[in-house]
Amino acid sequence: MTQSHGWAAQSATTPLSPFKFSRRELKEHDVHVDIQFCGVCHSDIHWVRNEWGGATYPVVPGHEIIGRVKAAGSAVSRFKPGDLVGVGVIVDSCRQCASCKAGEEQYCEVGATLTYGVPDRFGDLTQGGYSNNIVVDDRFVHSISSKLSPAGVAPLLCAGITTYSPLRHWKVGPNKKVGVVGLGGLGHMALKFAHSFGAHVVQFTTSESKVADAKRLGADEVVISKDAAAMKKQAASFDFILDTVSAPHDINPYLEALKRDATYAQVGLPDKPPVINMGNLLFKRRNLSGSIIGGMPETQQMLDYCAEKNIVADVEVIPIQKINEAFERVVKADVKYRFVIDMASLDRG
Ligand code: NAP
Ligand code: ZN
Ligand code: ZN
Repeated sequence: MTQSHGWAAQSATTPLSPFKFSRRELKEHDVHVDIQFCGVCHSDIHWVRNEWGGATYPVVPGHEIIGRVKAAGSAVSRFKPGDLVGVGVIVDSCRQCASCKAGEEQYCEVGATLTYGVPDRFGDLTQGGYSNNIVVDDRFVHSISSKLSPAGVAPLLCAGITTYSPLRHWKVGPNKKVGVVGLGGLGHMALKFAHSFGAHVVQFTTSESKVADAKRLGADEVVISKDAAAMKKQAASFDFILDTVSAPHDINPYLEALKRDATYAQVGLPDKPPVINMGNLLFKRRNLSGSIIGGMPETQQMLDYCAEKNIVADVEVIPIQKINEAFERVVKADVKYRFVIDMASLDRG
C-alpha cells in the first residue's frame, strides 16, 4: 500500500483537518503521482458540505491535480518517473460503453469514477488531491508542458476543461456573440477561452469590483447582471451563453438575451433548480442545455492548446493550512480567480 497524507472533512459541518490514509498498490496500468499543486474548485465545497447529497466521510477533496510521476506500472508506456502530469475530475470509467469508446468518459453510461468520494472498482473509496500523492490508471493521467507555471496549470484540469469543452461543442469563434455568466474559477477560464477563440465576449457579473479584471481577461463588454436596464439592452442578441454560477439565480433574463435557436448551457451546479419561464424557450425556439467536464482526449487537446497559446488560470497560491479560510472566501465570490494549494506546505510527519 502507498501511505498518503492529506486534509479531509470528517462530516458536512467540520472543517478540513490533517488525515492519514493509504492508496492501492501500484498496478500494471497505474501511475503514482507526487502532487505539487491542487486547485480549489467550488465543487469541492458543494461536496464536502453535502450540498448535493450523498457525500461520504472522511473525504479528501481536490480534482485539479498537478505533480510529477514517481513510479509507473509495467504496462504504462506514456509516462516515466519525473514527468510532469495532471489528473482531473475522473479517475476511471467502464471503457466499453458508447461514450467511453467515443472518448467522452465523463458521460460513461455505467458512471465514471470521480476522483474523490466514491467507491472504485478495487473496493476503495477514492480520495482526491488535497494530499501528497495519488495512484491513477494512466488513461486518466495527462501530460503537462513544462512551458507553463504548474500552479497556473492545475485549474485547467477542471475549470479549464469544463469551459473549453462546451465552447468547442457549441462552436464558439469569430462572428459569434458569446456570454459568460459569473466571473469565478470557471468563468475566468471561459472568458479567456472564448476570447482566444475569436468571439465577441460579454461577461456578466454581480461584482462591480471585477469589471476592470473582466476587460483585462478578454471581455469586449461587461454587464452588471443586477442592472435590469443593462440586461434588457442585450435582448435577443447572443449566439451562446455559458452559465458558471455556483448559487441559485434567475436565468430568465439571460434566456431573453439569446437569439432565435441559440443555446444557454449550464456548467454551474447550484444545489437548487431554477424556475424557467417557458415562454422564453418557446417563442424563439431557444435551447437550454448543460455540460460536464470533458473527455480524456479533449482534456489533453485543451492542455496542449493552453501550452501553445500560453493560457493558464489566474491563481492565488495558498498553504494547505489556509484551506478552510479559502473555502469561506470562495463562497463569498472573493477569489481572483482560483485558489491553488502548494502541497510543499503539507505536514508529512
Ligand atoms: P466560483 O469560483 O465560486 O465562481 C462562481 C461565481 O458565480 C462567483 O465568482 C460569482 O461571480 C458568481 N456567483 C456566486 N454567487 C452568486 C449568486 N448568488 N448570484 C449570482 N452569481 C453568483 O465557482 P467555480 O469553481 O467556478 O464553480 C462554479 C460552479 O460550477 C459550481 O457550482 C461548481 O460546482 C460547478 N462546476 C461544474 C463543473 C461541470 O463539470 N459542469 C465542473 C466544475 C465546477 P460574479 O462575482 O462575477 O457574479
Ligand atoms: Zn471542479
Ligand atoms: Zn463507459
